Amino acid sequence: MNLIKRYITKNPYFSDGRYLTDSGFDGFFLHSVGCNQPDPLVFLRGWDNAAHTNAGINGFIGAEAVYITAPCLESVGTVKRMPHAGRPANDHYIGFEMTEPKQLRYNQNATAFTVPEAELESARSFVAATYCNAVELFAALCLFHGKDPLADGVILSHREGAKRGIATNHGDPETVWNGLNMPYTMDGFRADVKSKMEENGMTRDECNALITQAVAPLNAQIAALKNRLTEKENELQQLQTGIGFHSERISALCELVGMHSTEILQCTALTEAQRTALEALNDGIDERIQTALNAALGPMIGHLEDAPKWMRPALRELLEFGVINGGTPAEVDPLDVNKRQAILEAVLMAKKCAERYADALLLPTLDENGEATA
Ligand SMILES: [Zn+2]
Repeated sequence: MNLIKRYITKNPYFSDGRYLTDSGFDGFFLHSVGCNQPDPLVFLRGWDNAAHTNAGINGFIGAEAVYITAPCLESVGTVKRMPHAGRPANDHYIGFEMTEPKQLRYNQNATAFTVPEAELESARSFVAATYCNAVELFAALCLFHGKDPLADGVILSHREGAKRGIATNHGDPETVWNGLNMPYTMDGFRADVKSKMEENGMTRDECNALITQAVAPLNAQIAALKNRLTEKENELQQLQTGIGFHSERISALCELVGMHSTEILQCTALTEAQRTALEALNDGIDERIQTALNAALGPMIGHLEDAPKWMRPALRELLEFGVINGGTPAEVDPLDVNKRQAILEAVLMAKKCAERYADALLLPTLDENGEATA
């Protein structure tokens, strides 16, 4: 038997950490893949995939080689649990799939197949080869784990598991053997496994030595991987320590900044409050000055039209005579006043006085009765 270790590490069940051990480990299931693909590597590629969530397996048995896909010959009494046949079988048995010859023509439901007469012998010789490899593999498994292949429930086909009510309803691998009219049965298989164990004359230790030899390169690989893992863990530890140190410093800095920012906020708040108060005060002052000015001097008359109506004719005269002027040259705006109303009133009173004085100059001389003499 050409035994090759090729673990399907990417299969989701490979690294789930679940193992069958001691009394929880009953034995082995023999399967047949149920399609006409003879190459175990095709299955390996398909199953060594994180997306392959529907099943796991501990090995594929081809005509030329047996591929061990998950730990089952590494530690006596302990095997990697890989779900292959439904429950509760998955919790007590590990399984192995025999591939099938390409000459099988399955029907659409994959429940039965035919083989052209001319290809029958090729198909049978392929199945005979997988059978022989399965016998050798199961003999090695029984030897390694100290199990008796003839004891009840140590070696079961998927079909037998289904009949016992511990596995899903499948008919493999007997369907293949019967479909090709081959003389193989599970009782015969178990007997052949037993014979192989005796025929080899191998002791369990000899078997272990053989397996150890096969596993040695893999163990070296695993050891190297473990070393690398340890290295990476150390690096990670160092990084974490580094980050921890920096984060402490950052925390200290944050605290410092926090303190200052509180102070700064307080200062700003103070200034802001003062500024607001000051503005309020300024506003008040402006308003009070304005009120006082308005009360004392009346409103500002910017333009002739802003003046009360009664004032306007007299103001117009004074503007025309250039007695008052708002500051804008008369040729630009002859009606610019720009004086408070009280000022204008005073000016108008003066104007009136001046007019009255002028009249007084022309008054007639009065007699003793106060009558005009002329
Ligand atoms: Zn099966």
